[in-house]
Amino acid sequence: MAQGISGNLTAIAHYDVAVIGYGPTGAVLAKLLALCGLQVLVIERERGIYPLPRAVHFDDETMRVFQTIGIADALRQKIRLNPGMRFVDGNGSLLLDWPRPQETTYHGWNASYRFHQPDLEALLRQTVQTHPNITVKTDTELQWLGPNPDHVSLQCHAGDSGLTSRMTASYVVGCDGARSAVRQAMGVAMEDLGFRQSWLVVDVLLHREMPELGDHSVQFCDDQRPMTYCRSPQNRRRWEITMQAGETAAQMTDPDRVWQFLSRWITPKDAQIERSVVYTFESSLAETWRKDRLLLAGDAAHLTPPFMGQGMCSGIRDAANLAWKLALTLKGRGASGLLDSYGQERSPHMRAYIETAIKLGHLINSIDGDSGPARAGEPADKSPKMASIAPGLGGAAAACFGFAPGRHTGRLFGQPLLAGGRRMDDLCGYRPVMISRASLPAAGCASEPKSAVGPVFMDAQSEPALDAILSALQVNAVLVRPDRYILATAVSDAEITALAGLEFPSPLG
Ligand SMILES: Cc1cc2nc3c(=O)[nH]c(=O)nc-3n(C[C@H](O)[C@H](O)[C@H](O)COP(=O)(O)OP(=O)(O)OC[C@H]3O[C@@H](n4cnc5c(N)ncnc54)[C@H](O)[C@@H]3O)c2cc1C
Repeated sequence: MAQGISGNLTAIAHYDVAVIGYGPTGAVLAKLLALCGLQVLVIERERGIYPLPRAVHFDDETMRVFQTIGIADALRQKIRLNPGMRFVDGNGSLLLDWPRPQETTYHGWNASYRFHQPDLEALLRQTVQTHPNITVKTDTELQWLGPNPDHVSLQCHAGDSGLTSRMTASYVVGCDGARSAVRQAMGVAMEDLGFRQSWLVVDVLLHREMPELGDHSVQFCDDQRPMTYCRSPQNRRRWEITMQAGETAAQMTDPDRVWQFLSRWITPKDAQIERSVVYTFESSLAETWRKDRLLLAGDAAHLTPPFMGQGMCSGIRDAANLAWKLALTLKGRGASGLLDSYGQERSPHMRAYIETAIKLGHLINSIDGDSGPARAGEPADKSPKMASIAPGLGGAAAACFGFAPGRHTGRLFGQPLLAGGRRMDDLCGYRPVMISRASLPAAGCASEPKSAVGPVFMDAQSEPALDAILSALQVNAVLVRPDRYILATAVSDAEITALAGLEFPSPLG
């Protein structure tokens, strides 16, 4: 239960963190904060789950976070593996093939999954609502925020009762989407990264199996009208179709017009349209991610064109990066500057993702059978030529704990299967992990994974899979953050001792 703090006649409920918005970002953040033992309030304007499916793809890193919050097994029943993406010309001839690996990756999951966003959101809500530390208020809109030196006052309006309620929180995180009210209250502007295009998005439910449509995503690089086809789970399929100059949303969503677009693949005998809607894909980044006790995450902080399927995934990364920092700060164990390291790490990382998505968008719009950067038969490697996506997070958090960022700082540490067949993250939960080849004096480390105070210690000498990762990194010890990014590494005995003595508290402690 939230604590009451002084009010006049009625005590006003106080929470450690108020999360505004119950989309994927808000739900994941709320659960991670609750796992750290914080009291969390979630405020959501809508009564139910956002009815229109948006995201269709997520990646292995995102699945790792879903594993941490305990929904991976249930989610596996609802998703399918994505075999990859093909780029074809206006006549359907293959231009580029971008297969996605079918084996599990470095993260212990698959590189690319297809899903139906409302299915995921239902699972997220189930796990959030059953946690005793979380209070969820749906059909409730945030109306007003009043920042104070030691807390934030909030005023909300409940749609069903019409009542206005007030509460306070130590921190407020705006996970309230593209038109974020929290961002407006913070007075934060969005930097426009230059991409803006309107596309018709059509989701259909097939009446029967249609294997001829294929399991790959297909980019139809038709210079007249580029389109995308996505194979979603079960009988769901999606087409995304560019709008041309002068076309209106009303024209595009007219059912006759929609069927005309789809006629190349399906007719009303084959499927029903679940929805058709025009979205304007944008690219923008919040200029600041934190102002004192107010923070932004997910679409409230960044908007990317969906060509890489990374909008939601990025919001989940924000949540995993932020929750442990908020928990340590609220428990008085956070190093100075730790909360600022959130935006310092996430913003440049996100910028790299948006820029890559924009390049992919231009690729889809620019290649055709006669011209373009790459054609079938031409490149030895038929995968899209893009700059590598964000190399790492940088070392802002490491610096807060007194470590000069090293070669691997800010890179993701993998998740191998350990002896006995368990995934590494299942053993350590949302906690730091110290992995070492030396039997440590273990100053701040617990060899008992259930102990919540410091990092979990894992002995690489008895875990060949961990030993192999240390060999690949050419180090003898590594300290991994709760979000699985590397904080610091060590090679010599002296460095290992220093790393083991480093005070890096667990957010669960
Ligand atoms: C066509 C399309 C395809 C996409 N494909 C992919 C994909 O394949 N992969 C991927 O990763 N991403 C994809 N995305 C992006 C993804 O859907 C979004 O990035 C993701 O839904 C954002 O989640 P969020 O929780 O940050 O925000 P949202 O899901 O927008 O949630 C914000 C919530 O805040 C609530 N809210 C707003 N204001 C208030 C207020 N004042 N008070 C209370 N509540 C409020 C809203 O009701 C909403 O529920 C796609 C998007 C589109 C449009």
